[in-house]
Amino acid sequence: MENPVRIAEVLLPLALGHAYSYAIPDGMVLAAGDFVEVPLGPRSYFGCVWEIGQSFGTNMKLRDVTRRCVGPSLNETHRKFVEWLAAYYLEPKGNVLRMVMRVPAALDDPKMQMAWILGEERPAKLTPQRARVLEVAGQGFAMKTTELAEAAGVGTSVVKSLGAQGALKEVSLPPHAKFAEPDLHAAGVKLNTDQRAAATAMRQMLVGRAHKVVLLDGVTGSGKTEVYFEAMAASLAAGKQVLLLLPEIALTATFITRVERRFGCEAAQWHSDLKPRERERVWRGVASGEVRIVVGARSALFLPWVKIGLIVVDEEHESAYKQDEGVPYQARDMAVLYGTLGKFPVVLSSATPSLESLVNVDRGRYGLVKLKDRHGRPELPETFLIDMTAQKLETGLWLSPRLVAEITTTLQAGDQALLFLNRRGFAPLTLCRACGHRLNCPDCAAAMVEHRFRKQLQCHHCGHSEPVPKSCPACKSEGQLVPVGPGIERLAEEAQRLFPSARMALLSSDLARGKTLRDTLRGVEKGEFNLVLGTQLVAKGHHFPHLTLVGVVDADLALESSDPRAGERTWALLAQVAGRSGRGVKPGHAFVQSYLPQHPLMKALVQGDRDTYLEGEKRIREVAGLPPHGRLAALVISGKEANDTFRFARAVASAAPAAEDVRILGPAPAPIAVVRGRHRVRLLVMATRNVDLQAFLGAWLKDIKPRGGITLQLDVDPYNFL
Ligand code: ADP
Ligand code: ZN
Ligand code: ZN
Repeated sequence: MENPVRIAEVLLPLALGHAYSYAIPDGMVLAAGDFVEVPLGPRSYFGCVWEIGQSFGTNMKLRDVTRRCVGPSLNETHRKFVEWLAAYYLEPKGNVLRMVMRVPAALDDPKMQMAWILGEERPAKLTPQRARVLEVAGQGFAMKTTELAEAAGVGTSVVKSLGAQGALKEVSLPPHAKFAEPDLHAAGVKLNTDQRAAATAMRQMLVGRAHKVVLLDGVTGSGKTEVYFEAMAASLAAGKQVLLLLPEIALTATFITRVERRFGCEAAQWHSDLKPRERERVWRGVASGEVRIVVGARSALFLPWVKIGLIVVDEEHESAYKQDEGVPYQARDMAVLYGTLGKFPVVLSSATPSLESLVNVDRGRYGLVKLKDRHGRPELPETFLIDMTAQKLETGLWLSPRLVAEITTTLQAGDQALLFLNRRGFAPLTLCRACGHRLNCPDCAAAMVEHRFRKQLQCHHCGHSEPVPKSCPACKSEGQLVPVGPGIERLAEEAQRLFPSARMALLSSDLARGKTLRDTLRGVEKGEFNLVLGTQLVAKGHHFPHLTLVGVVDADLALESSDPRAGERTWALLAQVAGRSGRGVKPGHAFVQSYLPQHPLMKALVQGDRDTYLEGEKRIREVAGLPPHGRLAALVISGKEANDTFRFARAVASAAPAAEDVRILGPAPAPIAVVRGRHRVRLLVMATRNVDLQAFLGAWLKDIKPRGGITLQLDVDPYNFL
């Protein structure tokens, strides 16, 4: 008999549901989890060995694995994680692997970096520019071409020509700076009595247990961070790696500094803004085990962990943990899954936990640790309701006399006030007074939002923008276009008129990003501004010690939505915003403007009675069979032609297998029925918890092939109902 052919089943980071077979050439040693380079068609790809097998077949014409990458391998837990995640969301495995393989440069030997130091020669002609370069190089630090040129304020050609003349000498730098070990004796703050009790309770729940989820439920400012730091410290002391997940928006320099101070070492950061080299450095550091602490956004889950011992999901209720584009996964849920597979604990932390997590506590699946009081100041900010139905406001104005009076008092006392309005731009809608025409996006069934600072109309669904027209596009009347409704920029105008001498900061994701945003946030922290206007950007996570007044301009905004989580989300948002107030020395309060003063949510907010409100929400969900009591999946079908799209959606619906305890709603036009010129139709699958939803969806959709430019997107556990 012939010798068997050794075969590597290689999963490629492409939209492929299974691995491809390649022959392992003689002499090549491969194991499952190794990264390899393989040919596919005319191209070459990196992939991951999923399995090793052998075959006695003689007629098989397999292509060879080109080579094994010299970098790290993917361990079994991580490979299982890829498998499970793909199965849960009915995604091709290759798409999930792609999220793991985001840093191809890290699969091979690190490239050495070239840098310059002072050389022995003198340049033929010493121009002032050259002199500056030599002066900088003379300070003794090896610098890369671009760094040296920038520091000397010259072009890179000056540096290179000095190099060519031997006035600068090339040296190679180690490819990446090392991550230091945490200092296990670094001093944390002294925990207060409640925090100590919470930390002890948490330790007792976690000790001796492989996997356990604990919900850390504590009011804003109670010091949850200090409590989960204790759990992180314990895991680090056991030699493990820890991951602290944050919603991207909460990944601020201040917070990173806090982590680094607590653990006496650099914390690796992982988010969408990282430069490629830093990305590579972190990926390698995690794969080698050198990185012990990662503070990251949701995609940090996919780093190649080798000895992870704990994941903390801060602000676990945040919908930002759900990814909508690409593979639509929920990072909090996947952190729990990873913990189950890797047999390590997961801590979920929030001042306003999700109903999902609270119900898991009710069912005894998660442990619960509570912090009832704020650190150093027992009372939460008192919240008052302003009944807007009883206020007489001129059109185009949004701040009630009561709120204006409160702001005035606050500013006079030298304190800081925050006005919260969760709407970007100047006005959400522009209408023509003469003919009633409404300025819509040409490609979406949605109004264009005026952004006055940028002098643009913008569609928030497709990003289309155009200048604000002078006359009505329909009836050509001039000067008749009027903004309708408030946006944060319009509010800023009103506030400027009312408080001309206030030091105002305007924080909205489209106006401030990156460093500007970080600088402004820092300015707010330091009290350099006394009137802060912000969208959801300011609502969470920040600690503004000078802030004593929070005004919620329109509390009803988020309630008007078809989203089953609208109530829960509005609660979380308003409680979080109100919780920004009174975190420093002085007590704080919050004023909430609402046209629905009788709404149970508004009443609960004023009484600070979260549990009653959430119990009500739980019952509503239970009766309706909505999550967490039932399971949902959404299908969004889109296409160029409204009729074709609808017809296809109806065909999909009628192909659904009959199943007990599963209902299919729709097809119905999506709330935003057209986006980027594509018509959108939704189907919603509702199942009871005992249904194997994945099996049902798999059987249903396996033979459905959208054609003619129609696409079908599946979203298991949807969070977005637009
Ligand atoms: P949370 O995450 O619950 O909103 P934080 O952990 O951010 O609260 O704590 C709020 C503030 O109180 C922070 O400035 C923190 O440094 C401070 N703090 C919390 N606990 C203590 C403590 N035991 N000693 C001193 N300061 C503390
Ligand atoms: Zn008109
Ligand atoms: Zn649009």
